[in-house]
Amino acid sequence: MAKLMAAFTTLGPIYPGFVNVSRNDDGSVTIYVRGDPEVRADSAYICGHAVDKGKPGRCTPGDQHCNNYCNLAPEKGPMVDHPASCSQTYEGKTAAVRLSAEEWVRLFSELLA
Ligand SMILES: [Zn+2]
Repeated sequence: MAKLMAAFTTLGPIYPGFVNVSRNDDGSVTIYVRGDPEVRADSAYICGHAVDKGKPGRCTPGDQHCNNYCNLAPEKGPMVDHPASCSQTYEGKTAAVRLSAEEWVRLFSELLA
């Protein structure tokens, strides 16, 4: 079973990037990385159900993100022909690199040099 050696997660409210270094039973070391999140500003709120309240990019009828594109919030006025725009955060890609024990020692000594 792999044993955690060190891990670090960047600060960020949604999908923060992280690094995880674990030693495997055979002495090799696997480094897992999740990239920084990507924020795209060209998104739109999608009207959802009550269970979606507060989820990124979702509105619930009548909430602060709803512009009555859903036609379920008459108090917001007549139905509009497009959803309200928003930015959305997307999870970065995850990758893993496995280094032999010798490769790990070489990398670590270069990091400390
Ligand atoms: Zn809505």
